[in-house]
Amino acid sequence: MNQYISGGLNEECGVLGVFGVENARDLMYYGLHALQHRGQEGSGMVTGSQDRSMNRVKGMGLVTEVLNSENMKSLLGDMAVGHVHYSVGEESGIENVQPFLFHHHSGDFAICHNGSLVNSNELKRYLEDQGSIFQSTSDGEVLAHLIKKEDPTKIDVTVILQALNKLEGAFAFLIMTRDKLYCCRDKYGLRPLSIGTIDGGYVVSSETCVFEVTGAKFLRDIKPGEVVVIDDSGLKSFDYSMFKHHYMCAMEYIYFSRPDSDIEGCNVHTFRKETGKLLYKKVPVREADIVIGVPDSSLSAAMGYAEASGIPYEMGLIKSRYIGRTFIQPSQELREKGVRMKLSAVSSIVKGKKVVLIDDSIIRGTTSKRIVELLREAGATEIHVRIACPEMTHPCFYGVDTSSAEELISRHHREDEVCRIIGADSLAFLPLEALYKAARRSELCTACFSGDYPTQLYSSIDI
Ligand code: AMP
Ligand code: SF4
Repeated sequence: MNQYISGGLNEECGVLGVFGVENARDLMYYGLHALQHRGQEGSGMVTGSQDRSMNRVKGMGLVTEVLNSENMKSLLGDMAVGHVHYSVGEESGIENVQPFLFHHHSGDFAICHNGSLVNSNELKRYLEDQGSIFQSTSDGEVLAHLIKKEDPTKIDVTVILQALNKLEGAFAFLIMTRDKLYCCRDKYGLRPLSIGTIDGGYVVSSETCVFEVTGAKFLRDIKPGEVVVIDDSGLKSFDYSMFKHHYMCAMEYIYFSRPDSDIEGCNVHTFRKETGKLLYKKVPVREADIVIGVPDSSLSAAMGYAEASGIPYEMGLIKSRYIGRTFIQPSQELREKGVRMKLSAVSSIVKGKKVVLIDDSIIRGTTSKRIVELLREAGATEIHVRIACPEMTHPCFYGVDTSSAEELISRHHREDEVCRIIGADSLAFLPLEALYKAARRSELCTACFSGDYPTQLYSSIDI
């Protein structure tokens, strides 16, 4: 059997930049909080302005744990970049928490990013052969070295475009210099990045929900292969590649982004609701009493399914607000305990009922198996599971932790086997083409379902 080995660190992150806003740190604090769902392992920000040096606070933990009124006093200036971080495996540690702040005789600069390069091992090797030494396993450090290799005397857009041209994979990079903010998106359009305006300044974010939360006004998405340079004279746009595609990550719509975010013009809640409607159309359950969704990411799809089927939507599962995502628990045993701690069934609602259970995805099968058990214990008579995405059969190399190939249950088992393993009465997945329909677009990365990776995969990724 072919084995996929990820070359680098898998990261799911959120980036945020602020330019030209008095006390940028305050806006950053609330904005990073709105991006917290994209990474709960580490947080940080760097602030600065034309007339003062850059300062940074970063640490392991949630935004509210890392940043406080005391340590934020040092974060002065009207420019900032910030980050929420999640990584997988033993490489997760403070050295990988962003933003990175580099001190250089030609001027300090800060970098943070979301995504994952597929050629980071090759680039690192190339840079190490030239004398570079790395302190982290993060792609941000790779870009910093590439930029300085292009021209050690300065950072400007030409140098950045040349460095970006060497990168292959998925990224949204923010680079802050003394007087400029460079906002860069990969040429495949895999990772999102949008710009908003506020009080004469700018906010750049992985997700548009930040604009709602902070009172900023959405301006536009950064285009694939585009670098937007923000400085005192406003915005300037540059392309670093003629090759451009719009392979936005389907998992951003399905699971990752907040329902109140819009991804390239499509609202995430609306997308998920549509997948629920399409689930009913394509793989209906003929006889059921209630539809329930797995909180929070599957509630929109469950609403769509209920609306299309006419079967009442009910609150059959309750989620504890005070436990992190089950995925973050390292071992299978802990993950299983985590699911129990996180979710409980509402017996008075599900008892004696034939239930349609909607979840956004099945990766290892842990969550579905536990939830089916919970619902049976609570007295549900039938449980029909409908999954609002296709069977996940391939790992992601673009910065989303969708687990390794060995762990993907649908890679090794047919639908009827998975149904038996999770203990459901029936199971069906959304067909692949329905994702494109729900997102109302013809280009989308769906590689974890199809194995059709939009980028080249490098030697560090063995297939
Ligand atoms: P599993 O229990 O391994 O089958 O994982 C499925 C659950 O993980 C679903 O309920 C999803 O909501 C959730 N999920 C999907 N994608 C991710 C991800 N990238 N990181 C963490 N959780 C995820
Ligand atoms: Fe997103 Fe899957 Fe593509 Fe990774 S492989 S970028 S998770 S759609």
